[in-house]
Amino acid sequence: MDAELPLAGRHAVITGASRGIGAAIATRLAGMGAQTTLIGRDRRALERQASGDRNARAVVCDVTDPVEVERAFAEARERMPIAILINNAGAAESAPFQKTSDAMLERMLAVNLGAAFRCARAALPSMIETGWGRIVNIASIAGLRGYPYVTAYVAAKHALVGFTRALAMETARKGITVNAVCPGYTDTELVRNSVATIVAKTGRSESEALHELIRHNPQARLIRPEEVADAVAWLCGPGADSITGQAIAVAGGEIM
Ligand code: NDP
Repeated sequence: MDAELPLAGRHAVITGASRGIGAAIATRLAGMGAQTTLIGRDRRALERQASGDRNARAVVCDVTDPVEVERAFAEARERMPIAILINNAGAAESAPFQKTSDAMLERMLAVNLGAAFRCARAALPSMIETGWGRIVNIASIAGLRGYPYVTAYVAAKHALVGFTRALAMETARKGITVNAVCPGYTDTELVRNSVATIVAKTGRSESEALHELIRHNPQARLIRPEEVADAVAWLCGPGADSITGQAIAVAGGEIM
């Protein structure tokens, strides 16, 4: 193994790779030598992210659509067997519980849980065949503790952590590890949208709204997407063979 490029010859599929945390993970894994397939719905954003890396391919796919997932993963497998899957695509909608509709619950479960479930099912055969695989689910600290006004999101992310643990047990003797990385509030469009929602609904200023989000983080700051990518890189790298079924918080000590 090339110590500088420990993922050379490995194919990593990253969902939600067009921006934010997913883009940082794609860049980090590519820097370790991986061939990457970047999945998302916005072709232009994906192609922008893939440009400049001749080992990156963009595949347009809505991961909540089972037929599109089958097609996208068939395309990815055709290129090269899948060794690494990063289930990162996700979304966070907020509402008081009494105003949380069935439709919002379905949306949160579809993108944060169902998509990871199906993508893992589509990627696993390659990993079993080669006897090596890494699955990392980007959950959230909302997968480890409760927060108000995001019951559907919190429920979906807790379910994703449960899925991670169960699949880790099932694949433990196959050379495959399955872990969750649980970021605290991270500096991406998702958080910028949350700040905008708080401003619109409460009349607070942007800095007050941001303070509301980061006040539980002992480091009193947003996490950087690259910090989440570093945790993922460690889980996919050569030193983490015995780490499986874990839910690792990257949250400045917000949860202990
Ligand atoms: P962004 O909103 O910045 O990016 C989300 C990414 O997911 C985009 O690339 C988007 O691309 C893609 N995506 C969303 N829905 C779909 C879909 N149905 N099919 C395919 N791709 C999709 O979010 P973040 O980078 O902030 O979040 C990434 C993950 O990290 C999410 O799972 C989120 O829950 C989690 N997380 C984020 C935190 C934060 O504070 N930012 C904190 C804790 C966890 P496109 O729209 O083009 O499809």
